[in-house]
Amino acid sequence: MTAPSWSHLKDLVRTIPDHPKNGILFRDITTLIADPVGLRSAVDGLLLPFLNEKIERVVGIEARGFILGGAVAHELGRGFVPIRKKGKLPWKTIGQDYALEYGVDRMEMHADAIAPGDRILLIDDLIATGGTAEAAVQLIRRSGGEVVAAAFVVDLPDLGGADKLRAAGVGVHSLIAFEGH
Ligand code: AMP
Repeated sequence: MTAPSWSHLKDLVRTIPDHPKNGILFRDITTLIADPVGLRSAVDGLLLPFLNEKIERVVGIEARGFILGGAVAHELGRGFVPIRKKGKLPWKTIGQDYALEYGVDRMEMHADAIAPGDRILLIDDLIATGGTAEAAVQLIRRSGGEVVAAAFVVDLPDLGGADKLRAAGVGVHSLIAFEGH
């Protein structure tokens, strides 16, 4: 089967210049997920390459990765694991610092959320520099999980995040790309 095109999704992404900082073109997917065809296409597009893969859990990154990752987990019939910003999860956590395109932060995952050997599909809305996804991969690997792939609706290839993930041994799947920052 030839890979389907998801380019129609680009028109549903709202671009906001200088948010949250000067020089950032913020790619807002709330307009895409508010559209019924947009949401369903995005979820279908994220999970299609993995229908025949052995996957134990879907991991989503706060906050937009929860919306998409939850839907992907539901459709695949698998459990969902959240990675959250520091201090939000109620049980024992493991944490990882990471650099954002616009700042530094720490993310956490429950220490018992992933069992050694679990095969994981990682989901977020967008990959830019790759710092966020790379930290999530580290958390999953520290728990003994194997990252089968990371899937994103939007790739900003000029920022190099997808290449960085591939260099770290993670398969990367994305639906649409925007040039520039
Ligand atoms: P990065 O760690 O640089 O790959 O950034 C990815 C994370 O930051 C994702 O969770 C995105 O939601 C968010 N993000 C980074 N840059 C942008 C952008 N230009 N537009 C929208 N979201 C972004």
